[in-house]
Amino acid sequence: MVVSPKYKRIILKLSGEALAGENGFGIDGNTVSAIAKQVKELQELGVEVAIVVGGGNFWRGRTGEGMDRTTADYMGMLATVINALALQDALEGIDVLTRVQTAIEMRQIAEPYIRRKAVRHLEKARVVIFASGTGNPYFSTDTTAALRAAEIEAEVILLAKKVDGVYDSDPNINKDAKKFDELSYIDVLNKGLGVMDSTATSLCMDNKIPILVFGLNEPENIKKAILGEQIGTCVK
Ligand code: UDP
Repeated sequence: MVVSPKYKRIILKLSGEALAGENGFGIDGNTVSAIAKQVKELQELGVEVAIVVGGGNFWRGRTGEGMDRTTADYMGMLATVINALALQDALEGIDVLTRVQTAIEMRQIAEPYIRRKAVRHLEKARVVIFASGTGNPYFSTDTTAALRAAEIEAEVILLAKKVDGVYDSDPNINKDAKKFDELSYIDVLNKGLGVMDSTATSLCMDNKIPILVFGLNEPENIKKAILGEQIGTCVK
């Protein structure tokens, strides 16, 4: 049976936590390898994959209590670069061509973010990893995913989480928590559901970019999402 992907160009948003494995901190080599293998499978299906990485496994702006917020946010953006390089290394190790583009210039280690170049890389079947978030403090890498998705005209944001979708309450605390199959952006905003921050959600709403929230715990989930199988929660 020929399997054809539902999407041609996607943004995969990986939180820093997704790379940390069980430790919850730093980078777990096995976890990053497993993600890299899944990304390779997507590429083999002909999907153009751009990745936005978070940095929460090392540092988040809000970790820096008592610090100047802007400084703390720049530290967070630098953390995303460490993750981007780890991911690049894992992908190149299994022969997936990649480019890291950073919103804060670091010429020795990555290309600067240039939209037209990013699109060209995707067309040439290279995985593009966006580092340093938007390059601005007071934003998140979820907002980066929304912004880059709009810029490169990605059809969907795959939001890989530790939890396997969006629930009406925390499933780790409330065993009767109910999972939503589908939600509207406005429901996410009104109900204050912790899918994405409100800036990111609004940007997706205004630009009609669907968000597919799913768990990374099942190895095949990224592929299932691409093939259009009902997994996780779709926000549209
Ligand atoms: N950050 C920022 N501007 C951006 C993106 C990220 O200032 O455009 C900072 C912010 O401090 C954030 C940190 O980088 O807390 C790490 O990103 P994020 O919390 O989104 O990572 P994740 O939760 O996805 O691991």
